[in-house]
Amino acid sequence: MNKADSLRLSELFQAEGYACTEELEEADLLIYNTCSVRHHAENKAMSYIGRLKDLKEQKPDIKVSVVGCMAQRLKGEIIKRLPLVDYVVGPSSMFDLPELIKKGKAGVYADSQEKRKEFPDVEYSSINTSSPFSGYVPIMRGCNNFCVYCIVPYVRGREQYRTKEDVLNECRLLAEKGISEIMLLGQTVNSHPDFKDILKVTAGIDGIKRVRFVTSYPGYMDKETVDIVASTPELCNYFHLPVQSGSDRVLKEMGRKYRVSHFRDIAFHIREKLPFAAITTDFIVGFPGETEADFNETLNLVREIKFDQCFTFKYSPREGTRSAKFEDDVSREVKKSRLAVLNELWSKLALKRNKLFVGRILELFAESKKSGRSSNYKIVHWKGAQAALGGKVKVKIIEALPHSLKGRRIT
Ligand code: SF4
Repeated sequence: MNKADSLRLSELFQAEGYACTEELEEADLLIYNTCSVRHHAENKAMSYIGRLKDLKEQKPDIKVSVVGCMAQRLKGEIIKRLPLVDYVVGPSSMFDLPELIKKGKAGVYADSQEKRKEFPDVEYSSINTSSPFSGYVPIMRGCNNFCVYCIVPYVRGREQYRTKEDVLNECRLLAEKGISEIMLLGQTVNSHPDFKDILKVTAGIDGIKRVRFVTSYPGYMDKETVDIVASTPELCNYFHLPVQSGSDRVLKEMGRKYRVSHFRDIAFHIREKLPFAAITTDFIVGFPGETEADFNETLNLVREIKFDQCFTFKYSPREGTRSAKFEDDVSREVKKSRLAVLNELWSKLALKRNKLFVGRILELFAESKKSGRSSNYKIVHWKGAQAALGGKVKVKIIEALPHSLKGRRIT
């Protein structure tokens, strides 16, 4: 989502006559689009921006802007701690930045309640895309779920949906520009009231070969959506469903509004309908009150589903969330050891799953001269002729690794 917003922002500035540069010293304007999900991300952003002190002294006219979730969460504190910053602008207001800069109105612009009610009022014309063949298309933003550990609903605000017509117009425009892969985006992308319709219609646009969607909230995922993916060749066989824990007790404490049995049902349905589809997930280990028995339920779920990839995190309290008030009672050592056990287990099982692909032929879009991704989001490195970026390549898989596949190019 941040990448999509950054692209949109750079597009708005280009319309004002700016050009992008990779060289810090060349720039007249620096924009830092930030993430607040983890404390670590904020610290990194703060220290990175802090290192601009010398540059700002040498080039006092350079404008420094901090936008996005950290700007919303920390507001004036950013300028207090880093006086070199000129503009601090919340996630829904960031598209006003060109106007603010034109007017020379430096300062703090956090999102107001009103600003958060509507999908940001910018026309997405997508001059910029993330790659020559793939385009990001946000369809909703924000979140209504308020999981107790998560800062997102506080910084991004409640769910806002883009109209189906608006989404489809942008997808059509991208297709006309030669984009063949669309990534539909949202914090809980499948909460969009027209989600299924958007999937079907986007997949039917002339020139669109692949449609992905991230991130789905497991509670809103149903068998009908899986069936739509199974019966629509353009919809990628890839489901990222962040389950967070295999224990119903922990899920309840986390404020997640689904049960493990629902998750299991959906995952088994995917495995039955689409045996080669990838299912990936997120886990938090060491949530307050997580017992050895709860953790074992997480391990059991991993054994049952055999995820293609897991993104795993040790719980750490996030200031401003409800769980920050909970007693962080699982020791650092226990969190560390649970994380290691979980990572070892899922990697072992992911390798086993990847071995299913050995001998099979996968169709890829080249993301570099000799690597690309399949419809089920597997990274494949190949031997043989190089491909042009975005080129379609067929590769016979010869070796499986836990996080990728190796193959030989056949066309
Ligand atoms: S669903 Fe929960 S974890 Fe995901 S963004 Fe919303 S509050 Fe955060």
